[in-house]
Amino acid sequence: MSDKMLNFTVGPVMSCDEVLEVTGQSAPYFRTPEFSEIMKENEAMMMELLSAPEGSRVAFLTASGTGAMESAVMNILNDSDKVIVVNGGSFGQRFADLCALHKREYSEIKLEFGKALDRSKLSEYADKGYTALLINMCETSSGVLYDMQIVSDFCKENGILLIVDAISAFLADELDMDKLGVAAVITSSQKALALHPGISMITMSPEAIERVEKNDETGMYLSLKEALKNGERGQTPFTPAVSILLSLNARLHQIDKCGGRDAEHERIVNTAKRFREGIKDLPLDLFAESMSNCVTALRVRDGSAKDVVNTFKDKYQIWLCPNGGEIGNTVFRVGHIGSITAEDNSRLISAFKELFQNAFN
Ligand SMILES: *Cc1c(COP(=O)(O)O)cnc(C)c1O
Repeated sequence: MSDKMLNFTVGPVMSCDEVLEVTGQSAPYFRTPEFSEIMKENEAMMMELLSAPEGSRVAFLTASGTGAMESAVMNILNDSDKVIVVNGGSFGQRFADLCALHKREYSEIKLEFGKALDRSKLSEYADKGYTALLINMCETSSGVLYDMQIVSDFCKENGILLIVDAISAFLADELDMDKLGVAAVITSSQKALALHPGISMITMSPEAIERVEKNDETGMYLSLKEALKNGERGQTPFTPAVSILLSLNARLHQIDKCGGRDAEHERIVNTAKRFREGIKDLPLDLFAESMSNCVTALRVRDGSAKDVVNTFKDKYQIWLCPNGGEIGNTVFRVGHIGSITAEDNSRLISAFKELFQNAFN
């Protein structure tokens, strides 16, 4: 390989030098006041990035994002809840599967793959005794960004607890917990935070915390009651992914130093815009109805999406994201998160032009 591999997937993604410096070190012992202090700072900085309401807390789980989704279903919900699951792709399906597994009564708003959610779909579920709603802010499998304002309005009007999986949308798309009245937001280390995989976080409002405290314990490793209790002193119940938590601290400071949340968001917006602009004359169609800034799903007019992904890897040293299932023959995805420089983005766009102008036109 002459050039270094460029990673334009949606996670894990490329990390900045500040992060790599930390993850290259031995993990220190963590039952110390020094580590606790860093954890308290991580908590405060995450809450600030999410505009979490006064009295919120963050649980740090050593797990992939699905672990945090499962923990939310186990600990924030209980068996007297009646849950709405917005299911527009594989991550919505995962919430539905978790509700089934943990015996939460639920109904699915099934959306056609790649399609957005509108008010009328939601209003069918008003006044029917629903108590909670689970949604993936960006359904990463299709790249659709749901309109969180209409979801928030619906939940507020109907007194429904709103739990948002913002694992891919966090930082890429605007999310204000306080304004939208979100009870819990799930985030994960390997998406726009651009750390190694292994840490997932649940940021909880006072309302979600109260539910956790009242609910019976349904598990041990993913217990949010334990996470919150230990978190009071900046600790976790079990050995966490220490290096990733330290790299989170480095990354949060890097975001802060480079202009904060809005600047980070702007950077991702511009990366996505430049890419979409750069490929607009190529024989590719934008797939999602309302796109997140974190990812672009593209449909190839001729040829195979799998071939595109493989050619990018082998010929251009660029990782793209294939799609699963039947749609994977025609649709693939390009991520816009992680430590992507303007030069990296140019190399990506040039490769698209070379491949599609030559081979498919
Ligand atoms: C990546 C992602 C997840 C988590 O997947 P893991 O492989 O468990 O980390 C969950 N939800 C969404 C929307 C995602 O993009």
